[in-house]
Amino acid sequence: MLDVVIIGSGPAGLSAAIYAKRANLDAVVLEKEYLGTGQIAYSSRVDNYPGLPGKDGYSLGEAFLEHAEGLGVTIEEAEVTAITKKEQSFVISCEDGKNIETKTVVYAAGCQNRRLGVPGEEKLLAKGVSFCAVCDGAFYKGKKAAVIGGGDTALDDALYLSDICEQVYLIHRRAEFRGAEKTKKKLEELSNVTILTNTRVQEIIGEDKVDGIILDNGGTIAVDGVFEAVGMIPNTELLKSLDVLDEKGYVIAGEDCSSSLAGLFVAGDVRTKSLRQVVTAVADGAVAIQSATGYIKGME
Ligand code: NAP
Repeated sequence: MLDVVIIGSGPAGLSAAIYAKRANLDAVVLEKEYLGTGQIAYSSRVDNYPGLPGKDGYSLGEAFLEHAEGLGVTIEEAEVTAITKKEQSFVISCEDGKNIETKTVVYAAGCQNRRLGVPGEEKLLAKGVSFCAVCDGAFYKGKKAAVIGGGDTALDDALYLSDICEQVYLIHRRAEFRGAEKTKKKLEELSNVTILTNTRVQEIIGEDKVDGIILDNGGTIAVDGVFEAVGMIPNTELLKSLDVLDEKGYVIAGEDCSSSLAGLFVAGDVRTKSLRQVVTAVADGAVAIQSATGYIKGME
C-alpha cells in the first residue's frame, strides 16, 4: 500500500511530489499526458513566478518535472478511470487495468479553459490566442487585443490590458455582464476600451499569428491578440460520486487542502480558491503533503 498517489503532474502535483519525496513518503504521480506539466505548458511567458521572470511556461513546467525526477520521484503515464474509497484506503483504477492501493490521494488534476470552439482558435493557440492576460498581456504592449467573455475574468483582463495595449475590445455574447458592475463602469470610462455586447466571435483569422476576428454581425476587427475568458472547467469528473464538489465542480477545501473526505487532499486550480496561479498551485502541493503526512501519522 502506498502512502500517497498524486493525480496530475502540473505545478501542484509536481510540488506535492517533491514534498512527498522529502517527507520520505511512498508516493507515485499519475499523469495521463506523456511528460505533461499541465496548463502551464501553454503559457508563452510566466512573468509572475518569483525569481524566474520571463520564463516560458513550457520551460518552467519542464524545470518542475526535472526537479521532481532528480529527487527520484516515480511518475507514471496513466489515465485514472476511478477513485474508490475503502474504509482505510483508496483504490485508484487506471485505464490499463492497473489498480493501486494508497492511504491518501492528492488530487491535482487542474482545470481546463473553456474554449470558444471557433475556426482558427486551435491553429493560433499561443500565436496570439491566449487564456491568461496576466501571463501574456505584456506581449501586446502598444498593440490591439480582444477579450472575449462577460465574467469577472474578462472584465479584469480587459482592465489589465487597457494599461498595456493601444486598444482593447471587450466582446460579450449578451447585454448583461456577470462580472462586477464597478469594473464594467471603469472600462466604460476608458478611451482605449470598446465594449461590444450581444456579439459573438465567429472566427479568429491569421496564419502564423492572429490578424483579427470575424464577428457574427459580419464585421471584422484587426487585433494582434485574442484573450478568451469564457470560464474554466475543473477536471473533477472522477470525484463526482464522492460528494466533495461545489456547484461549479471544484473540490471544496480550505488552505489546508483537506477535502471533506478523509484521506483525500486537493491541490492547485481544482480546489476552491480565489487566485489560480502557478505560485498558489505549488504552495498547495506542499501544504497538501503536509496535511496528508499528518493524516497518515494519525492512522498509525
Ligand atoms: P464565468 O463567471 O463563468 O464567466 C464566463 C463568461 O464567459 C460568461 O460571461 C459567459 O457568458 C461567457 N461564455 C461562456 N461560454 C461562452 C461561449 N462559448 N462564447 C462566448 N461567451 C461565453 O467565468 P470567469 O469570469 O472566469 O469567473 C469564474 C469565477 O471566478 C467567477 O465566480 C468569478 O466571479 C470569479 N472571479 C473573480 C474575480 C474577482 O473577484 N476579481 C476575478 C476573476 C474571476 P454568459 O454570461 O452569457 O453565460
